[in-house]
Amino acid sequence: MTPNRDTKYQDIYIGLVRLHVLHHAAQEPVFGHGMIQELGRHGYHLGPGTMYPLLHSLERRGWLKSQIVLVDGRRRKCYAATPHGKAALLQARDYVRELFDEIFEERAKPGSDRDLNMRRLQKPSLMPASKTAKKGRP
Ligand SMILES: [Zn+2]
Repeated sequence: MTPNRDTKYQDIYIGLVRLHVLHHAAQEPVFGHGMIQELGRHGYHLGPGTMYPLLHSLERRGWLKSQIVLVDGRRRKCYAATPHGKAALLQARDYVRELFDEIFEERAKPGSDRDLNMRRLQKPSLMPASKTAKKGRP
């Protein structure tokens, strides 16, 4: 990832980036530059110096398998998820779902900051309209 204000969170993001790459490679073969663009759409600013080692490490792990494909007469190294990689993705999906549920449940839990803020916001509209009107008169 290029040095920017998010650099301090890189160790968290890199796991998400790996999952993201694995997710796309499980759907169709991906290539480095294409994944850099795809992740850019999602707000991750990665350079080739991060993406290619990441792809290589996923391949060394046996989660991706590369293949040279000719595109417009040029050689392109494409990566597809292996059955082992797809199994890893499936398991990771369960962890992601569980974490997602917990993070977003937490925000709406009764008594949480978000819940209190929501109740504060709703209070005026819960008052009877006539009472609110009288109060405002001199
Ligand atoms: Zn994506």
